[in-house]
Amino acid sequence: MLSLEDFKTSLTLPSPVEPFFPKWKGAEKVSLFVKRDDAIHPIMSGNKWRKLSNALPPSLPKAIVSFGGGFSNHLHALGFICFKLGIPFTAIIRGDYSATPSPMIKDLIQWQTHIEYVDRITYKKRSDSAYLNELKLQFPDAIIIPEGGSQAQALQGIKDLVDEIEVDFDFIVAPVASGATLAGIINALNKRNRTTATDFRSLHKVIGIGVLKGEGYLEGLVQKFLPISKHQTSWHIDHNYHFGGYAKAPNELQTFCNDFNDNMEFKIEPVYSGKAFWAVKDMLAKGKFEDRSRIVVLHTGGLQGAR
Ligand SMILES: *Cc1c(COP(=O)(O)O)cnc(C)c1O
Repeated sequence: MLSLEDFKTSLTLPSPVEPFFPKWKGAEKVSLFVKRDDAIHPIMSGNKWRKLSNALPPSLPKAIVSFGGGFSNHLHALGFICFKLGIPFTAIIRGDYSATPSPMIKDLIQWQTHIEYVDRITYKKRSDSAYLNELKLQFPDAIIIPEGGSQAQALQGIKDLVDEIEVDFDFIVAPVASGATLAGIINALNKRNRTTATDFRSLHKVIGIGVLKGEGYLEGLVQKFLPISKHQTSWHIDHNYHFGGYAKAPNELQTFCNDFNDNMEFKIEPVYSGKAFWAVKDMLAKGKFEDRSRIVVLHTGGLQGAR
């Protein structure tokens, strides 16, 4: 069993920021960088580490309960860290995979996670206070972490990654599902703008790429996490790149990811990073960035989900 401090020494932090040079139309007119949160750890998805990193109290909890789908990067990351730290972990999973466990679930089983499969109706109640109170009675020693690790404490962990970026940039691009990551980026830049700009103007622009069909809905999720700020960084979510919905990956997206993985120094997958990098390629082709823009693409990790 490891302490949290020991566990952290196994992580690559700060994660690297690297320039990359794809052969995409328009790429030669801008500077592209990737923030390699996929490099933080081979098993634990970078994004989910960031969101958990400030959520575990220093006196570790006696048990943890959380929620996710059958391929969840969040459950995978949490299952791994709980195993390493010796914290009993219960995963409440949407749908019954007992006959055909996914690779993610097989890992959880190996890491001694207690798994409860629930139907869709029960899973829908995952944020209802009555249901959460029932769970508290069932697991009196446990802390309950919401789906995706998306809660207020997640924002500080995301701020850490923004603070690690030492290159100057104009745009930061990141995939959006629950909105906590994008809110964390905006919040971190709000703070930076406040301390560096006397005459406030938004120095950086944040572009979220919706990975599911959620025009309006995703903006609301981000707003919900965002503290009110007089120095609101300019941000928006582009809804042109969800490819039909969450985890939908038509052939053209699969092919794009395969070509990318054959030619670049790092790998992407179709659920999150593939959609974000495709979006940047398409926006460059359409001239959406001014010449000489400096663009950081956040690689949130999640390669296990592609298995
Ligand atoms: C969960 C996840 C996201 C989405 O982050 P949100 O905070 O839910 O918007 C993006 N990329 C990867 C790899 C993820 O696992």
